[in-house]
Amino acid sequence: MHINDAVFLEDLCPKFRLRQWRKSIHKFTGKSCIYCGKPSESIDHVIPRSQGGLSTTENCVPACLSCNGDKSDKNALYWYRRQKFYDPRRAMAIRAWLEGDLRLAIRLLQWANPNFKVKNKNYTKDESEYKAA
Ligand SMILES: [Zn+2]
Repeated sequence: MHINDAVFLEDLCPKFRLRQWRKSIHKFTGKSCIYCGKPSESIDHVIPRSQGGLSTTENCVPACLSCNGDKSDKNALYWYRRQKFYDPRRAMAIRAWLEGDLRLAIRLLQWANPNFKVKNKNYTKDESEYKAA
């Protein structure tokens, strides 16, 4: 009885709207995986559906098939912290996304973008040298 209290977007929206919604989620990150930055091919439930996670924008992030499959029904932040490609800025972005602050999440993801890092490599290096001196 209680499990029926959960409302899934899939049940509410016709297929067309569901497709639009999926598209809009991929658009937020420029079609890149929120975890590793590779092209996003799927939508991952941050809180797995098996643990009561809902199909809402706050709980659904763009993910590549590799991350989505590897994470499966583990806790996203716990799983992510153990990955080689772990980036604290992305972890913060995932947290912001979960809280519904998509604007902050997108900003953090832009910050974590590899191109951005390359551009600012020297600056970061100089800063750490300055701190060490
Ligand atoms: Zn990925």
